[in-house]
Amino acid sequence: MKLEIRGSDHEYKYVVEQSLLALFPQERPVYEMVDPASDSRWAIITLREEGDRCHVTTEMGWDGKSAPFTLGVDLSGDDYAREGQRRRAIGMSFFRAAREVTGITPPWGSLSGIRPAKVAAELLEEGRTPQEAEKALEEIYFVTPQRARLCMDAALAAQRAEAMLEKKDISLYVGIPFCPTRCAYCSFVSNSVEKSFHLVEPYLEALHQEIEDAARMVKELGLRVRSFYMGGGTPTTLTAEQMDRLLGKVESAFDLSASVETTVEAGRPDTITREKLEVLRRHGVSRISVNPQTMEDHVLRAIGRRHTAGEIREIMGLVSAMGFPHVNMDLIAGLPQDTPEGFRRSLTEVMAFGTDNLTVHTLSLKKGSRITLEGSRIPTEAEVGEMLSFADPTLRGAGFAPYYLYRQKYQSGSFENTGWCKEGGEGWYNIYIMEELHTILSMGAGGSTKMVDRAGGRIQRAFNLKFPQEYIQRPEKIAENHQAFRAFYQQMG
Ligand code: SF4
Repeated sequence: MKLEIRGSDHEYKYVVEQSLLALFPQERPVYEMVDPASDSRWAIITLREEGDRCHVTTEMGWDGKSAPFTLGVDLSGDDYAREGQRRRAIGMSFFRAAREVTGITPPWGSLSGIRPAKVAAELLEEGRTPQEAEKALEEIYFVTPQRARLCMDAALAAQRAEAMLEKKDISLYVGIPFCPTRCAYCSFVSNSVEKSFHLVEPYLEALHQEIEDAARMVKELGLRVRSFYMGGGTPTTLTAEQMDRLLGKVESAFDLSASVETTVEAGRPDTITREKLEVLRRHGVSRISVNPQTMEDHVLRAIGRRHTAGEIREIMGLVSAMGFPHVNMDLIAGLPQDTPEGFRRSLTEVMAFGTDNLTVHTLSLKKGSRITLEGSRIPTEAEVGEMLSFADPTLRGAGFAPYYLYRQKYQSGSFENTGWCKEGGEGWYNIYIMEELHTILSMGAGGSTKMVDRAGGRIQRAFNLKFPQEYIQRPEKIAENHQAFRAFYQQMG
C-alpha cells in the first residue's frame, strides 16, 4: 500500500506500519507520493496541531472505494504522554478509515501494539472499574468482547504482580541458543546441536564468566533478584552435567533468596530425560515448560519436529512423577497442516495432562522461517479464529484464567498469544517482562537486556551479540553492556 505522512517532522512510520500490518497483513508499506486518481491502494495521513489539540486525518483508497476519517484528541501530560496520545490517534484514524473502505473489524479493533493489556491498565488508572474499562475497550477501540475480557484479565494480573515489586527489583534471563533440530516455523537464532556441538562447551565457559560479572554488578548496585528464567533455544539440549554446572553457577553467583520462581524451558520433548529432570528438581526449579505445540503427528512432522505425540505422552508421565510445583505446556494455533478439529484434539489432550499452565500461541511467520520459504498450507484466518474461540471457553470452563498476553507481527489473523493458568499458577516472570514491570538482565548470546525505570518513565535496551561464535569471541560487548547498565542505575539513584 502506498503511504504518505504529512504535517509532521516526527517519525510516525512505525505506528502507521503497525496499523497496516494489523489491518492488511498481506500489504507492505511503500512510501511514495500518492495519486488517488491512478493508485488502487493508498493512504494519506495528515497531522495538524492547534495548541493542545491534535487532528489526524486518514484518507484511504482501497480497490475503487475511498474514505476519509478525521479525529481530534486533546494532548495532556509530559512530552512522552503526548507522543503516546498522538500515536494512538494516528492508529485510530487509520483504523476507522480502513474499516470504512473494507467493512472489516479485526479482533483487536484499532489496537495494533504488542501489549494490549497496557491500554487496559491505562483505562483502570484513569479511575474506571474493570467492567467500565472492558466496555471502553469495546466501544472506543472496537475490540471484540472476548478479547476485551482477555485484556482486562491480563491487566488485573499485572496489577497484582506490580503490587509485589520494589524499585530495585530485577529478573534474570539466561539463554541457551541451541536446539536439537530447527523447527520449520522458527526464525529464532538457534543453532542445531548437530551442527554446532563443538560450540556448546566454549559457549558455557563464556556464559559462566558473564554470570559472574553480572552478579558482581547486581550486588554493587544493590538490586534484588525476583525471578530467574532459563530459555532458548532449548535449554534441555544441554547434558544433565552441563545443566547441573550452569544452575550451580547461577545459584552461587547471585543472591536468589528473594526470588519467587525459577523457570526452565524444557521445550522439546526429544531433549528431556529423567536425569535432566532430576537435576532441575535438585536445583529447586519451580516451573518447567514442555512445548509440544500440537499433539497431531502429521503436524509435528510438518513443522520439522523429530518427535511424536507418543513421546510427549511418555515425557509427561515422567514430568508428573517428578512433582514440579508448576508445569507449563505450549500449543500453537494455526500450524501447517492443522485443522480446527486437530487443534481441538490437541488442546483436549494437553489439558488432560493436568498441568496448571497452558500457553496458546498463534502462529507467527517471520522472515527466515522455513514455512514461509517453502509455502506450506497453513490454516486460514477463519480457522485460526475457530481454534481460539474453542480454547477460550474451554480453558475458562476448566478453571484456567488468562494472566498475560502479547501480540506479534505477522501473526495469523492478527490474533494473540495468551498465557493461561489455574489459581496461583502465574508465571510471574512472564508478566514482569510482558508488562515491562521491571528490568530483565539477560545473559547469553542473543540476550536482550531491558532496563526499566517505572517511576522515571525510562526504558533502555542493551543487546548481547547474537551468535554463539561471536558471543564467545567478543566478551568486550558484555563489558560495554554492563557499563550501560551501571550508568542507567546510577542515573536512577
Ligand atoms: S525449539 Fe523453539 S527455538 Fe528451537 S528451533 Fe524450535 S521453535 Fe526454534
